Amino acid sequence: MTFVTFRSDDAWRPGLLLTGGVLDLAAAAKTDGGAPLPTDPSELLALGPAAWDRMRDLADAATRDGRPLLAEGDLTLGPPLPRPGKILCIGLNYRRHAAESGMAEPAEPVLFSKFGNTVVGPDAPVAIGGRTQVDYESELALVIGRTAKNVAETDALDHVAGYLNANDLSERELQMRSGQWLLGKTLDGFLPIGPYLVSADAVGDPGDLPVRGRLNGETRQDSRTSDLIFSVPEILAYVTRFMTLEPGDLICTGTPEGVILGRDPKVWLKPGDVYEVEVGPLGILRTPFVADPPN
Ligand code: ZN
Repeated sequence: MTFVTFRSDDAWRPGLLLTGGVLDLAAAAKTDGGAPLPTDPSELLALGPAAWDRMRDLADAATRDGRPLLAEGDLTLGPPLPRPGKILCIGLNYRRHAAESGMAEPAEPVLFSKFGNTVVGPDAPVAIGGRTQVDYESELALVIGRTAKNVAETDALDHVAGYLNANDLSERELQMRSGQWLLGKTLDGFLPIGPYLVSADAVGDPGDLPVRGRLNGETRQDSRTSDLIFSVPEILAYVTRFMTLEPGDLICTGTPEGVILGRDPKVWLKPGDVYEVEVGPLGILRTPFVADPPN
């Protein structure tokens, strides 16, 4: 299943991308006689497995009954998870990226966080006026679908609802200003995600997906998740030794080599640039950069 959100009445609404268009999930749930679905996508995904079972039933019914669908091209798609629970990120998690950053490969996963103010969807302009060292980071991200505490690597993937593209935007001057990366990682709009949240069963093994990034059409990042130092199951096993993960939590798994930080000379992102992230079958996440925040 491919989960999306779309703009309706000034809010993001949950939908499923089916053959032929987008199913308005809340509207479909209203007419099928079953339990109502939350119209808020984040509330819906926080329900965990029950939400996904219900969505699957609604998709099957819509296909069977020929329910009218919305044309994807007519919709403004938003972040698949507009308000994540926790937002965790793994730093220095690709071998060649650690090398280009001039840092040793970590012996344990390096965790940091971003906040909800960073989350934007595909094509949303990100304001970087006045910032001097803005960098992109193409990443495979995942949404937790089932509560996870002390999970074993062998069943860690059962706790993943699905996967999505993320761009872990980073302002390197702010990131390196103190010993804490947080400030440079959590400026407004600094976590574009989407356009799709593809269910885990449709993605299969996340261990060997292509991870690509393009700046103004020029390939900058072209790697695979097989270069990850800590795989998705290893990340989940590690994190859940220390904290419980809940449905609706978001984890960004790290970026491969090719970021501006590792280039010579370093030409940082500027207004007018466009960066695209494309991980495996997750669609293309396009982000235009502008000087000023949108009204
Ligand atoms: Zn990152």
